[in-house]
Amino acid sequence: MTDFSHADIKFLAGVGPKKAEILNKEINVYSVEDLLYYFPYKYIDRSRIYFVHEIDGNMPYIQLKGRITAFETFGEGRKKRLVAHFTDGTGFIDLVWFQGAKFIVDKYKVDLPYIIFGKPTMFGDKFNIAHPDIDPYINEEERPSGLMPYYNTTEKMKNHFLNSKAIQKIMAAAFASVVRNLSETLPEKVIQEARLMGLKPAMRNIHFPENASLLREAQYRLKFEELFYIQLNILKYIAERKSKLKGFVFSKVGDYLNSFYEDNLPFPLTNAQKRIIREIRQDMATGEQMNRLLQGDVGSGKTLVALMLMLIALDNGFQSCMMAPTEILATQHFITIQEFLQGLNVNVELLTGSTKKTDRERIHNALLTGDLQILVGTHALIEDTVRFSNLGLVVIDEQHRFGVAQRAKLWSKNVNPPHILVMTATPIPRTLAMTVYGDLDVSVIDELPPGRKPIRTIHQYDKKRGAMYESIRKQLQAGRQVYIVYPLIEESEKLDLRNLEEGFEHTREVFPEYTVCKVHGKMKPKEKDAEMQRFVRNEAQIMVATTVIEVGVNVPNASVMVIESAQRFGLSQLHQLRGRVGRGADQSYCILVTPYELSAETKKRIGIMVESNDGFEIAEADLKLRGPGDLEGTQQSGIPFNLRIANLIRDGEILQFAREAAKKILDEDPQIERPENLILRKQLQKLSGNRFNWGQIS
Ligand code: ADP
Ligand code: MG
Repeated sequence: MTDFSHADIKFLAGVGPKKAEILNKEINVYSVEDLLYYFPYKYIDRSRIYFVHEIDGNMPYIQLKGRITAFETFGEGRKKRLVAHFTDGTGFIDLVWFQGAKFIVDKYKVDLPYIIFGKPTMFGDKFNIAHPDIDPYINEEERPSGLMPYYNTTEKMKNHFLNSKAIQKIMAAAFASVVRNLSETLPEKVIQEARLMGLKPAMRNIHFPENASLLREAQYRLKFEELFYIQLNILKYIAERKSKLKGFVFSKVGDYLNSFYEDNLPFPLTNAQKRIIREIRQDMATGEQMNRLLQGDVGSGKTLVALMLMLIALDNGFQSCMMAPTEILATQHFITIQEFLQGLNVNVELLTGSTKKTDRERIHNALLTGDLQILVGTHALIEDTVRFSNLGLVVIDEQHRFGVAQRAKLWSKNVNPPHILVMTATPIPRTLAMTVYGDLDVSVIDELPPGRKPIRTIHQYDKKRGAMYESIRKQLQAGRQVYIVYPLIEESEKLDLRNLEEGFEHTREVFPEYTVCKVHGKMKPKEKDAEMQRFVRNEAQIMVATTVIEVGVNVPNASVMVIESAQRFGLSQLHQLRGRVGRGADQSYCILVTPYELSAETKKRIGIMVESNDGFEIAEADLKLRGPGDLEGTQQSGIPFNLRIANLIRDGEILQFAREAAKKILDEDPQIERPENLILRKQLQKLSGNRFNWGQIS
């Protein structure tokens, strides 16, 4: 028999050119093999038959066995609906159709036995099932039973009679025609060691599960395979890159770091900061180029870590730069660093979009002569005109705000690429980091500086503000400062800006005895900066702002963060905003203001914020609620998150095993050239042909 798996899908029984075109366009299925890799998204247990009198409000899809007693039509025109009264002897339930009435009445007969399949919902005071599946009941052997697969289908597919059931049918044809030729896609050894199901039984059970446990095995095998090849690709790429690239060796610690440590460090480092500085110092001394992600919750002291590493670069004769996503943040880093380095004779400059031309030229020159040692700035740093004499270390703060291309540009600022440290306070679970940032090493600051009191978070309905304003007033009277944040997104920009203006006026009325300032992204940088500085200097006690203050702003005297329309923010964003307070030793508060009516999901999100102060926990919850496709930064990373079967969050453990297996293969056979590994070579080629190269992403 010839191998039919690469045959065009149109030759498959029951498909033909018309449907083939739909399959091509809608779900990217061109060959019979493509179809086999189109996996169900869920399974429904059809082994049990329920009774009508058992039905309650929370049932999933269920089956009933009984007969239709009569058809009836209600309503007119577009509101017309067909109802079939159905009974199994234990009670009555209505089956309802809003379309296709004629077809239904012709096809199904009163008083014949049927198996009904659907989801009961409450309508008025009665249950009904809308658009149920109906099969004639012949006998117990022939009724559909067991786990029934469900395939995702689009509107267009359904219009061409390609619903889930139809896919199931052509899947059976596909399976029958190619199963014999289906050849294994993983090496025998990997299968043995990871105790995986073979490809053929896995394919059979994923589409036609024999039982729940075989289905689980099949899912495991196919997920493992998918993740395994991603990891193999990434790890191979890292190994190749490491062998090609030379990294600068920062072998010594010298005067700059020592004097800073002895004379200028205003407080002892936390243990986590010490550990990470040690870790990174070792990393930068190996001769390999460092590419590292530093994760640390808001306020954990990442800036200081970065500064000390930049001083190590300086001690070894190298320049460094630090890039931040906003002008406000870059300016703040610049000021902080200058203060930290007072008296140490280090030349630090700030470069942003609003740096004056003369200053810009001076900076450009000083970079080339090497006089300028540390450059802080925004995107302005990556412009081609910015050239260094000897750039050794690049720090990127809040890296998720930058695209891959922007980050990559910094690589080319020296003959050999500098060491790269990217920092983030929006942590992502390790397993996901291994894939999104597959070739980054990860360090985690898991400790906050001492003396910080956890922020108290309160959920507040927007109609009852009296008590809230009173507690804010108490904080102001105690000398603290307050942020009030409004959402601002492009789609509703005008309305959002109006809300912010109104909020600003309203705040001034409520607190006439205090000064209120205002910052939003639509203001000119100069104006924005001036307002910001008024708050920093405590000339204004209340700041009304948009999320421009989300990243990195540091005013330790601020103790209250009010977030208006909190339901419109993502969890990680709320956590970032909340991190603007709680920076001093005083008790701080975060007040999440929302309308009374909230969706179940939003309630859950607000609940998580009220309960948890832990950025990792929140990020994980956020990912589970939103899925990784929405993760900030990942859209830009170019990773296709619509994997076929694996889920990067839920399948973290499988990912770990798959990564270890891939590592083992590469340790033993770095070039993947042994005969028993030929299969890997073939698969990698095939995957790289139609997919993104997973390795080149950081
Ligand atoms: P993030 O990790 O969010 O960037 P920052 O670097 O802005 O945090 O640090 C937050 C605050 O904590 C700053 O005011 C910083 O000076 C302070 N800080 C950093 N390290 C320590 C420490 N070891 N002890 C006390 N305060 C610290
Ligand atoms: Mg920071």
